[in-house]
Amino acid sequence: MQAISKLTILGSTGTIGESTLDVVSRHDHYQVVALTANTQVEKLFQQCLEFNPRYAAMVDENAAEQLDNKLKAAGREVTVLSGVTGLETVASLAEINTVMAAIVGAAGLLPTLAAARAGKKVLLANKEALVMSGDLFMQEVRNNQAVLLPIDSEHNAIFQCMPENYAQGLESVGVNKILLTASGGPFRTRALDELKNVTPAQAVAHPNWVMGQKISVDSATMMNKGLEVIEACWLFNTTPDMIQVVVHPQSIIHSMVSYIDGSVLAQMGNPDMRTPIAHSLAWPERIESGVEPLDIFEVANFEFEKPDMQRFACLRLAYEAMHRGGTATTVLNAANEVAVAAFLQEKIGFLQIPHIIEAVLSHATIEDALNLDVVLKADHESRLYAEELILK
Ligand code: NAD
Ligand code: MG
Repeated sequence: MQAISKLTILGSTGTIGESTLDVVSRHDHYQVVALTANTQVEKLFQQCLEFNPRYAAMVDENAAEQLDNKLKAAGREVTVLSGVTGLETVASLAEINTVMAAIVGAAGLLPTLAAARAGKKVLLANKEALVMSGDLFMQEVRNNQAVLLPIDSEHNAIFQCMPENYAQGLESVGVNKILLTASGGPFRTRALDELKNVTPAQAVAHPNWVMGQKISVDSATMMNKGLEVIEACWLFNTTPDMIQVVVHPQSIIHSMVSYIDGSVLAQMGNPDMRTPIAHSLAWPERIESGVEPLDIFEVANFEFEKPDMQRFACLRLAYEAMHRGGTATTVLNAANEVAVAAFLQEKIGFLQIPHIIEAVLSHATIEDALNLDVVLKADHESRLYAEELILK
């Protein structure tokens, strides 16, 4: 009989949030204490009816009020909080031990940091938090004895292939390379001159994964892989030179770790986020996730390619930003979020995404990311400049 684990799910109405609730609902020993969303009142209301949390938090004040009224009318005793402080409160409740950090983008940073500061087990899907503020985030994890487990399928795979003592330095435990796999997205083989006219609908149609809109566009530009290179550097205490991106269009191998004795360890499975979610929820034990077992005879062929840095300028920009250090990755992330939102609203074309990010990076003054104020200022200023470029 496993001990009861009490959870807050930040971003419960998103793709990762819903997959988390799916895994949780398959087991008796997870209790959902708090759920959060940005503006989706109806979806959060339905989740509250099904999972009976003690708290629900919505960023938007009006949405929170609507949710509160609906829950009262339904006779449910759920405390509804609002604003970013509401999210921070539910991420650090004394009664929870685990936080699923599944808000998309920079908006996830403050609540995810609150969970780390409160010493929780943090299941990290929100990679943008580490890209914006990796050094400070990892310091909070260490200083507060939080446990950080990666949900991103690649990082979860790497974690599973690492020796237990990897935090002491990859070279000292015999690792010589991390092989970070990438599907290559929907435009891997599309003629280069067609890319300037691709639509948001084409960009979000990922061949192997069902995901939120922002990460789907990031996968099409391969900025997602760039963000993941940066994420891997912080999670595994290493440098971008130790990370080789490998395009593997089948998305069955979720990443690999190469050792000095010639061994290469891989983690495989069907592309379904419930595997890394279940792995992190139960770690170091294993639980069922609802994922179909991998039929190795059906997959049969694995392909591997080097990434095309010319086609995927975003990947190059991410490597460059991580090499530069300090607030460069904060600027990269902010400019990317603004550019992707503008692309989804059809204000700019697909190929303008990397142009805007590059222009914001060359305009910004890169500083040491000494504290949160410096990071948040870099984020804010980069957004303003990116917006200006989009309006031109
Ligand atoms: P999504 O768009 O489906 O869901 C995002 C969630 O965040 C929703 O619950 C939404 O209400 C909430 N949210 C959005 N803006 C917010 C704001 N300003 N303040 C507070 N909450 C806000 O996104 P997703 O695909 O579930 O991705 C979530 C995170 O997980 C992202 O960081 C993404 O990179 C990462 N991730 C996702 C996948 C995947 O397969 N979907 C895989 C790996 C990593
Ligand atoms: Mg990933």
